[in-house]
Amino acid sequence: MKRLDHITIWYESPAIHLMQDSTGKVIGAVINRHGQEVYVHAKKGVVLTAGGFENDPERIQDYLGVPKMVPMGTLYNKGDSINLSIEAGADQWHTSVYNGGGLYHGLTYAVANGQRGILSYTWPELYTGSIFVVGNDGTRYFAEDQHSKAGYLFIHGFGRHPYLTTQSWIIFDQKQKAKLEQIQDSALQSALNKAIAASSASELAAKLNFDSTIFTNTVKDFNELAKLGKDYSFSRNGQTMTPLADGQIYAIKLQPAALNTQGGPRRNEKAEVLKPDGSAIKGLYSAGEAGSITTNQYQAGQDVAELLIFGKIAGENVAQEPVEKADSVAPLDPKILASDEQTENYQLGANQFLGKSDQGMGNEFVVKVTMDKNNQNIQDINVIKQSETKEIGQKIIKPLLHNIIESNSTNVDAVSGASLTSKAVKSAVDDALAKIK
Ligand SMILES: Cc1cc2nc3c(=O)[nH]c(=O)nc-3n(C[C@H](O)[C@H](O)[C@H](O)COP(=O)(O)OP(=O)(O)OC[C@H]3O[C@@H](n4cnc5c(N)ncnc54)[C@H](O)[C@@H]3O)c2cc1C
Repeated sequence: MKRLDHITIWYESPAIHLMQDSTGKVIGAVINRHGQEVYVHAKKGVVLTAGGFENDPERIQDYLGVPKMVPMGTLYNKGDSINLSIEAGADQWHTSVYNGGGLYHGLTYAVANGQRGILSYTWPELYTGSIFVVGNDGTRYFAEDQHSKAGYLFIHGFGRHPYLTTQSWIIFDQKQKAKLEQIQDSALQSALNKAIAASSASELAAKLNFDSTIFTNTVKDFNELAKLGKDYSFSRNGQTMTPLADGQIYAIKLQPAALNTQGGPRRNEKAEVLKPDGSAIKGLYSAGEAGSITTNQYQAGQDVAELLIFGKIAGENVAQEPVEKADSVAPLDPKILASDEQTENYQLGANQFLGKSDQGMGNEFVVKVTMDKNNQNIQDINVIKQSETKEIGQKIIKPLLHNIIESNSTNVDAVSGASLTSKAVKSAVDDALAKIK
């Protein structure tokens, strides 16, 4: 942050290739900048930090073995670190490792393809009462009350992801539905509104495409075990199980969720990217989930720790590389070199001031503040650019700006639960107001 004025940041400019010299040393990257291919020469080296493959359906299928995992974070990690490093000759590792998260052992309420899932809470009512979960075939496959860490369950003494189904269903009766309706959770309530209802287990089986005998037996078995007070199938606490009443029965669709994936280029302790023979690819480093060191266990905070620690190691080591002189480096077109700020055409009228902040959840947050003619009172604030999260951040921007305009000051309460977006809004307005002086 201290050296930010020396660092050029280009948004929406993905790296599409790495460049190597005749010895295989990585000497730069090809960037897609506003539709143009820009060849950027790296004087010392390149650090790959383009994340995992959460949003690459083909690799999700190939590496994780399911047709779809719902991304819970960025929508832009499409496995480019893997493509770029393979081009440069890198070995790959940990391709089947990922972190789940969300409901139960890493499930989320189903969303359409290409949409982000919602990180929701496994309320006790989702595993206590006349309620259980089945997979694709209408059978139960795990203990619904089992504590999970980032999607890992403690299986045979070891943290493991359970068998992943393409979809799962929460099954419950009318009485349980009434309990779920009392919970203040918008994701759950919207899932409840979309729940599939039937007047019997066999009718529900038909609607969900289950074999009717298999599903009705699942319901029967669950009810028997609940009466016994002992789950001989999956060791769920018998006290949490109540038989489902006859009559109305419901199903909510779930899909497996990915917080992040770990697969990508193999790296060593110096953050150097390695070839299959174990030697380092000169000039190529990596950090974060782009080929994470993590194997099949979860330690809290491991991903953020890894991006910070390996970011530091990679940065320090690349800085020690000798400066690579390029024989012929064409100067870049100044239009391409210019930062996003200069290339974006912000129109300002009289008594209007531009303010920016990088303190939000997303990229740069930019506002246009319109003052009265004496530059004393804020008349209006328009958000020109923001990429805060749709579910949380974007919802608080308007009301917070309203409060700032009303009190003619940024000294207003931040919105709890959206503290980063609040910070971005307030500091961008402060930045604009500072320009008046
Ligand atoms: C809801 C949620 C909760 C989480 N909770 C935790 C937690 O509690 N603890 C923890 O340790 N971890 C947690 N994680 C995981 C952690 O956030 C990620 O593993 C971590 O942020 C990854 O950092 P990164 O820098 O490697 O990748 P990212 O932060 O994903 O950054 C990769 C960047 O590369 C960009 N990119 C992609 N392709 C290209 C390209 N070709 N060229 C240039 N740029 C490209 C992407 O747009 C993205 O901005 C959570 C994740 C989610 C989604």
